[in-house]
Amino acid sequence: MTEGPRTLDQFDIRGRSALVTGAASGIGLAYAECMAEAGAKVTLTDIDAEGVARETQRLADEGYEVRSGVCDVADLSQVAKAFDDHVAAYGGCDIAFANAGLDVGNGFWTPEGARNPEGQIDRYDPDRWYKSIGINLNGVFHTVREAARVMKANEASGGRRGGAIVITSSNAAEVNEAIVGVPYMAAKAGVKHFMRHAAYELAAYGIRVNAIAPGPFVTNIGDGWVKKNPAAKAAWDELVPVGRMAETYQIKPLALLLASDAGSYITG
Ligand code: NAD
Repeated sequence: MTEGPRTLDQFDIRGRSALVTGAASGIGLAYAECMAEAGAKVTLTDIDAEGVARETQRLADEGYEVRSGVCDVADLSQVAKAFDDHVAAYGGCDIAFANAGLDVGNGFWTPEGARNPEGQIDRYDPDRWYKSIGINLNGVFHTVREAARVMKANEASGGRRGGAIVITSSNAAEVNEAIVGVPYMAAKAGVKHFMRHAAYELAAYGIRVNAIAPGPFVTNIGDGWVKKNPAAKAAWDELVPVGRMAETYQIKPLALLLASDAGSYITG
């Protein structure tokens, strides 16, 4: 064997702690489950108080070390409090997932294949734009800001140096999708470049920053329209070269790679 830790040992996150935003559902819930399954202590946060309490209790009943917090990522003070509460409970923060996000609807094309006047830029409701940017872009800034703040303090308080931040971007950061609203495109593309900048800046502090850009996953995004509408799901299945939308468990291995020492030389 050459020098260095063994491959599977690099995925070991036992004894570490992780905070996840948007953890009551979908991809965020999968991240939280993944961290707990791999042995980390996890704070699940979400704007949905009932949902996050329910999922946290379910994981606690399964024997995992988890806690919950109610947090709207659009509000910096709530995000700061979520991280402070996490540090008070678990003594530091090694891993953070800036995941919460939503689809505010209204692309310039309908799923049925017609132009959608309300989704066109000259008619676009500015409040929808501000809401999407407030959560999908500002929410990521708030989460990375507060994660960096507490991670910089990890070593001084006797913990491991630095940490790992994983952002949920989107395929929409790479490809323009006509049925998805324009602010979502702008926010996710912004998130991607912000991620690279944060990685560049925070590398000196031992904090890695990466983003996962998922393709179409079966979640509750857009009020769960894919779950409620088999025809929409079939259409998405057909669009994807592998012939099917992804299930949320399929994102877990990538999340663990980026969150653990297995990703120690992956940033930005
Ligand atoms: P989801 O609706 O199943 O889960 C999103 C969670 O975020 C929900 O629990 C919701 O309550 C929470 N949330 C919404 N607004 C919030 C806020 N202001 N503060 C805190 N929590 C809030 O959707 P999902 O598909 O799991 O989405 C998770 C992330 O994945 C989002 O950033 C989304 O843009 C991204 N994404 C999803 C897909 C997909 O196909 N599902 C593809 C690419 C990217």
